[in-house]
Amino acid sequence: MRLTDGRTLRCEHATALVKGAPVRAVIGDIVEVSQPDDHDTGIIDEVEPRRTQLVRKDPAERSVPQVLAANFDLVLVAEPAGQVNLKRLERELVLAHGTGADVGVVLTKADLAASPDEVECAVAEAQGLAGSRVLVLAESKRDSASIERIRSLIAPDRMAVLIGKSGVGKSSLVNLLAGSDVRQVGTVRDGDGKGRHTTVSRAVVPVAGGGFVVDMPGVRGLGLWDADAGIEAAFSDVEELAAQCRFRDCKHEDEPGCAVRAAVEAGELAPARLASYQGLKRENAKMLERRDEARHLRGEKASDRRKRAAGRRGAGGGRKRR
Ligand code: GDP
Ligand code: ZN
Repeated sequence: MRLTDGRTLRCEHATALVKGAPVRAVIGDIVEVSQPDDHDTGIIDEVEPRRTQLVRKDPAERSVPQVLAANFDLVLVAEPAGQVNLKRLERELVLAHGTGADVGVVLTKADLAASPDEVECAVAEAQGLAGSRVLVLAESKRDSASIERIRSLIAPDRMAVLIGKSGVGKSSLVNLLAGSDVRQVGTVRDGDGKGRHTTVSRAVVPVAGGGFVVDMPGVRGLGLWDADAGIEAAFSDVEELAAQCRFRDCKHEDEPGCAVRAAVEAGELAPARLASYQGLKRENAKMLERRDEARHLRGEKASDRRKRAAGRRGAGGGRKRR
């Protein structure tokens, strides 16, 4: 933990904090720390409410969320320029939008693409998927101007989080942004999926002449957690059409007056895009069902759930999108 006076201090969670409601401080969290006189470690007494958070389904548990980072301003989704995986990009965009932060896409290793044309095509394709409100940039470690463009997105008071599969070039980009080798490139093993207690050292890295960047370890299992808002934002094209369906709860299957199917038939919406949307919606609905089942099994009282839902509505409404 870095203290307000600039010192760093090893910290443990206060027992009262992690008992019952499992709150754990994650990278980017602002916490309240106390230090008993005779200790060289501090105690985290309180985790401040998070402005933004990156959350996925815990890969080791059926129905538990896992927060990976908090209080950042921008999520940069990295995909290799030469082999953009559109399905994965869609999912990454849902998670990124779900954080409440700004979202950008970085197409990495542009120098490995067959030609500049191929890079341009990849940018256009990613832009089509991400929508006009998301900035899509190509980048290569061999092109310093491309790195500068990314640096300019991370103003001095901003923190960016990099997500993308392992090997996509995140560490390399972090090093270039930092202006020195702070991250080991190419040899860092993925710490994911090996159980809940595995930690890979993640650090908030200062960007030379800018803010901060955090590199997430190859967030492999990008399971959705309560992702309705993320899906809505990542598929605003489909959502806009859905708002015109005759039935509010239209599933866009065979209902009459379905504006979504009409758009597919008119060639205005790609069938694959609709299929992705529906697949992610189903996955999220299943997750919500499991979560509620698990809560029920834990014997959580309905009144607690109502309280939590009310709290969430309050917090959700206050989530800023800049
Ligand atoms: P990470 O797992 O996402 O952190 O990826 P790394 O940064 O470790 O990069 C994986 C491999 O891709 C390494 O061998 C890097 O040297 C290589 N790499 C990263 N960026 C570029 C790039 O812009 N161009 C080329 N040709 N290779 C790159
Ligand atoms: Zn419909």
